Amino acid sequence: MFFERINPLTGDIASSAEAMQASDIPAIAAKAARAFPAWAAMGPNARRAVLMKAATALESRADAFVEAMMGEIGATKGWALFNLGLAASMVREAAALTTQISGEVIPSDKPGCVAMALREPVGVMLGIAPWNAPIILGVRAIAVPLACGNAVILKASEQCPRTHALIIEAFAEAGFPEGVVNVVTNAPADAADVVGALIDAPEVKRINFTGSTAVGRIIATRAAQHLKPCLLELGGKAPLIVLDDADLDEAVKAAAFGAFMNQGQICMSTERIIVVDAVADEFAAKFKAKVGSMAVGDPREGTTPLGAVVDAKTVAHCQSLVADALSKGAELLTGGETTQNVLMPAHVVDGVTQDMKLFRDESFGPVVGVIHARDEAHAIELANDTEYGLSAAVFTRDTARGLRVARQIKSGICHVNGPTVHDEAQMPFGGVGASGYGRFGGKAGIDSFTELRWITMETQPGHFPI
Ligand code: NAD
Repeated sequence: MFFERINPLTGDIASSAEAMQASDIPAIAAKAARAFPAWAAMGPNARRAVLMKAATALESRADAFVEAMMGEIGATKGWALFNLGLAASMVREAAALTTQISGEVIPSDKPGCVAMALREPVGVMLGIAPWNAPIILGVRAIAVPLACGNAVILKASEQCPRTHALIIEAFAEAGFPEGVVNVVTNAPADAADVVGALIDAPEVKRINFTGSTAVGRIIATRAAQHLKPCLLELGGKAPLIVLDDADLDEAVKAAAFGAFMNQGQICMSTERIIVVDAVADEFAAKFKAKVGSMAVGDPREGTTPLGAVVDAKTVAHCQSLVADALSKGAELLTGGETTQNVLMPAHVVDGVTQDMKLFRDESFGPVVGVIHARDEAHAIELANDTEYGLSAAVFTRDTARGLRVARQIKSGICHVNGPTVHDEAQMPFGGVGASGYGRFGGKAGIDSFTELRWITMETQPGHFPI
């Protein structure tokens, strides 16, 4: 049985994939579990060699990835190629980590006792990835787990099964032993059953999930019933603070990129621009001019910075957030009509306040709110008035001040004089609050995907009280 993904722009069939059922899951989990011991036992340089080949195999599929992402999610070529570049870098970083999975020798109070902390592979890991940055997030779900010696199951997104299948094809070409890398695809209606069966499978020892906060809660609850650890990378409402001494041109460029790259459909997307009153008017004028120059268009033509959003539901959701804000007194600085269902222009709403939905609800689309703050302290207070806490940014010419402000923002990530959208393979990536818990990236990933064990060795006769 197969399901189809429809191109959101043209209405044509973009791809089709196997509609697996919950009943298919036990065999896949068992296959991964059988493959695990041999992969775990391979030396770090042998694992590294396979991962390095996987990075090259990914890059060799550039044209196929661009075509799949344009068709399945309406992405621009630029977004597809950025995804591919960062994803290949993530695989190479994972390859570099294989010899960094180190432990320690810890001084013991017991005479003659040598105590060690050792990191060992866990077993079968389930990675669940969304559609919005599909190569990066699909690869992120499996690369470091594999480097750490685990077998993996990638649960592909229903919105981009072809893009996620291309990752698996590249990994297969690289020569992972049979059963080490697995993929599960399902029709949207079967998501709850299939994901539930994956979490329930006794062979699956840990879960990493990137997606919405609502589904993250379902997954964490299900995993908790089995006491299986989860790593959750969920939604965001990233603030970008512009202080009175900011370089406004830099802030405008970063805010426009952060709010509208991939049509605002990035977990780190700038969702709230918080500007202090002293520079609010000047910022608004410059930002309006910049965003007004950023057109939306058919990604296949490749002439515009904005492409299609993933579906008409996103447009309706964004329009409702804008309408709510305007009805409560905010002002539309720039916007426009959506054409062809999913070609939604960039929207900037000025004068957003805490009582508006646009202040709190993730838009995950081409809409950003501008919020006015009295001063630095007020800006920090507004930035922290959210359940989310993934990324943030602050703009000031005084970098020490920027660092002080950054440290007062409740988020996993904060950039001084840089956009909220920034990811590199070697960085600890993750959020707090409703943005989730746990970290991907670099050495933090080793913590997430290995079991830390305490092993002792007695080197002299023991003395016991009884
Ligand atoms: P989503 O949560 O709707 O879907 C993600 C996955 O959850 C899919 O694979 C789907 O099969 C599964 N799923 C759906 N319903 C389920 C259910 N009832 N039970 C179990 N599983 C279910 O997310 P999405 O729309 O694909 O992605 C957008 C969201 O992801 C946004 O909120 C965004 O902020 C977030 N995101 C976060 C990060 C991050 O790193 N923090 C990165 C990208 C996207």
